[in-house]
Amino acid sequence: MSIVVQKYGGTSVASIDKIKSVAKKLIKRKESGYDLVVVVSAMGKTTDTLIEMAKKISDNPSKRELDMLLSTGEQMTSSLLAMALKDMGYDAIALTGFQAGIKTEDKHTKASILDIEIKKVRHHLKEDKIVIIAGFQGIDENGDITTLGRGGSDTTAVALAAKLDCPCEIYTDVEGIYGVDPRIYPNAKKLDYISYDEMLEMASLGAKVIETRAVELGSKYQVPIYIALNTGLVTGTYIKELNESMEKKVVTGLTASDDDLMVTINNVLYNTKNICYIFNRLGEMDINIDMISQTAPIHGYVNISFTAPKESKDLIIDLVQELKRKMREIKVDIQEDITKISVVGLGMRTQSGVAARLFKVFADNDIHFKQVTTSEIRISYTINTTDKEKAIVKIAEEFNM
Ligand code: ADP
Ligand code: ASP
Ligand code: MG
Repeated sequence: MSIVVQKYGGTSVASIDKIKSVAKKLIKRKESGYDLVVVVSAMGKTTDTLIEMAKKISDNPSKRELDMLLSTGEQMTSSLLAMALKDMGYDAIALTGFQAGIKTEDKHTKASILDIEIKKVRHHLKEDKIVIIAGFQGIDENGDITTLGRGGSDTTAVALAAKLDCPCEIYTDVEGIYGVDPRIYPNAKKLDYISYDEMLEMASLGAKVIETRAVELGSKYQVPIYIALNTGLVTGTYIKELNESMEKKVVTGLTASDDDLMVTINNVLYNTKNICYIFNRLGEMDINIDMISQTAPIHGYVNISFTAPKESKDLIIDLVQELKRKMREIKVDIQEDITKISVVGLGMRTQSGVAARLFKVFADNDIHFKQVTTSEIRISYTINTTDKEKAIVKIAEEFNM
């Protein structure tokens, strides 16, 4: 029998009724001749609620204990879904990440999956059970429960599909992958398919419809991924290997992220040792910088800007104090109301002129950007957050997204 891994996200299992609907859908699929491995997320906003509870106890909760707490969310859904299936007359078994053999690094709250001892899952499939696995969690070499980072159930599902050498279907609260998040641009068009590379860029730039590491694994192990609405009644989007000739559109997707801040260090004495020192310290402090720009030297001084996650703000403030002691003439500005807008498209590898069209959109609509970076298939700009809505609409219209 063919195996398929299915994953249901938080909104798809948000209530008892929704869990029962998922069970009915699984039964139909089982009856059509499939062996099912089902990965579930915590019900609705359970993970957020658990985090809030932890924060009420401690400003800085122990990450090990946080993982213990957060993992209970998906455990609850998996057991309820297995009960629903059994109640409907079908054999099922709920497994925690540990019971499913999911081994991770010991990095609490953001662990990566190292391997899956898949024989346990295969054994239950052989017994003709529907195997329900709590997503987003695993176990480290010390026997401690770990979690995979927000949105990590996608990663659990794709990793299982890679190990079982089967397709992965991700059911969520939108009809598939759109050129732009349909919640911020309702006119967005649904894509029939998108390449791993494009989806990887979009996910890492903030399109949370699928978690970045899930796409990475999908690409590495060539797992066909399908994303669709949880009813299963509307055709969704396939993520697969594509080449430029199959991809007629030059721009496939647009993302906007408010997660970063921009730091500008003015008046840096222009010598490579100084600049190297700044970026070395950022690296040592584990501050993940993204866009970097530097002005041309004027009278021996330059201004340097970079973006970094807002969650690193405290570390950046510490670093600024340290730099001011070492380089007395610098002046530092931290801007938090910036948005990173990116366009992604495989077609950019072969077709030129995307940057020119974007510059024209910005010029025609009086949108000022602060930084630009490009990769082979993406262009990103930082703009003021006040211009975000306008930029999204105008760029989406220009590229018919
Ligand atoms: P789940 O709980 O099922 O994992 P998520 O909330 O993590 O669901 O992801 C689905 C959400 O992703 C959608 O509600 C949508 O707002 C958002 N999203 C962001 N970018 C896109 C996009 N390009 N296409 C579709 N959905 C997107
Ligand atoms: N429940 C976890 C979260 O909310 C994992 C997931 O849903 O994928 O991030
Ligand atoms: Mg998700």
